[in-house]
Parts: sequence; C-alpha cells; structure tokens
Amino acid sequence: MLIIKSPLEVLDMAEELLYEGKAKKIFSTDDPNVLLVQYKDSLTAFNAKKRDEKAGKGHLNNVISSWIFTWLAKKGVESHFIKQVDETHQLIRKVEIIPLETIVRNVTTGSLCRRLGVEEGKKLSRPIIEFSYKSDALDDPLINDDHAIVLGWATEEEVATIKSIALKVNKLLTELFASVGVLLVDFKLEFGRDEKGRVLLADEISPDTCRFWDSKTHDHLDKDRFRKDLGDVLGAYEEIWRRLSARGMDA
Ligand code: 5GP
Repeated sequence: MLIIKSPLEVLDMAEELLYEGKAKKIFSTDDPNVLLVQYKDSLTAFNAKKRDEKAGKGHLNNVISSWIFTWLAKKGVESHFIKQVDETHQLIRKVEIIPLETIVRNVTTGSLCRRLGVEEGKKLSRPIIEFSYKSDALDDPLINDDHAIVLGWATEEEVATIKSIALKVNKLLTELFASVGVLLVDFKLEFGRDEKGRVLLADEISPDTCRFWDSKTHDHLDKDRFRKDLGDVLGAYEEIWRRLSARGMDA
C-alpha cells in the first residue's frame, strides 16, 4: 500500500476534530468536501460495554479497509474512500451518513441466531439483508424498510439503491475472500449522501465490521475473537491482511 505522507504532514492536514467514535476520529481538512479519518487502536463490543486497546489494530483496519475500498472501486463500486495517507489515516469524501446499518448475512450466526433461535453456521439459500437504526442510545435496534422510509431516514429510492449496492458488494467480497480461503459469513455496511445527493458506500470494511471464517477450519478471523474472548485478536486481523496483500489487487 502506498504511504505518501509523513506523520507530521498528516497532522498538518487535520484541521478540527469533528467527531470521535468508538473506532475512529474524523477531522476536517482545508477542503470542505474532504475529511481525514484516523483509525484508533480501541476495540469495543456490545455497544462499548466491553472495551480494550490493541496497539496496531488501527493500522490493520486502515490498511484492510483501504485495500477493500480500492479493490471495490476497480470493480465499479464507488465509496467515500479517496486514499490512504499513512499507517492509521485515510482521506474520505464528506458525506451525510444515512442512519442505517445495513447487514448482509450469508451464514447464520450472531444476533440472527440469538433472535430467531436458528442453528449456527447454516449456509443461507440466498443472502439476507437487515437494517438497524444507527443509535447508540437505543442499541442499534433492528428495523425494516418501512421504518426507514416512513420515519424519514432514507427515501424509498435510497433504500432500493442501498440494497442493490449491498448485494453487489456481497457478491464481489464473497468471491474475493473465497480466493484467499476465507468464508464471508456476514458484514455491516454504512452509506452516505454526497453533495449531489448520490448514495455512496461509506464507513469501513474490516474485521471489525465483518465476520470472516477460515474456509477449512471455520476459525474466526474477526472481532468475534474479542467479543467471545477467543484470544489473539490482532493475529486474526494480521492474517486477513496477510492473505489480502499476498493475493494482490490484480488477481
Ligand atoms: P450481528 O447482528 O450478528 O451482531 O452482526 C452482524 C454483522 O454486522 C457482523 O459482521 C458484525 O460485525 C456487524 N455489525 C453489526 N452491528 C455492528 C456495529 O454496531 N458495529 C460493528 N463494527 N459491526 C457491526
């Protein structure tokens, strides 16, 4: 991955801290349409009721997410991502975040099994898309398309666009990860509106936001290692990065 800026040059790009979330900080830059994102080393789960710090985690999520957004752009999926600028920072286009978490599931696990009592680890006959309302105060409650549209969080057209991009990303990433021996179990996407009102993929795509299982062993290579106290969280993130970087963008 191309590293083009020294830490001092990156600090210079950051103007004002606009937002600090659980895993990232967002700064304004001298361009009103461009933001600087800093990936933090903090790990949180269960709406930050469980927290830890792992040195190097921000770097890994930054390089993994930058790699995936770059690869998706080559496949025709646009996102807010502009470029990686150093180990833990990337530049993104400013978008107005749509307050929906879009979850795509290929295999049963996690909250789907808890909520519906279905068996873990079953391959679904087709992907399931779910929406949650992005609200820490409410613990990101599950909603449906009607809630999103009627309560004014997204238009009907935006919901249709989000679903269509989510399914395309799922198809592309399922193939990508299969090529490096990883089963893409499920993941969460976020979307935003750019200055022209176009819906763009946003946030990050990383082991924090996806469930990655080793195709053969079903070992967890994602944040479930932290959620379930399985140990070696960083080793799992490093393994995802090792496989993606060894594969290369062009294969
Ligand atoms: P579940 O609903 O089973 O907990 O999560 C489904 C998928 O979405 C998992 O890949 C999980 O990592 C991701 N996901 C759901 N909600 C969040 C969230 O609030 N933050 C992050 N980082 N990932 C989430």
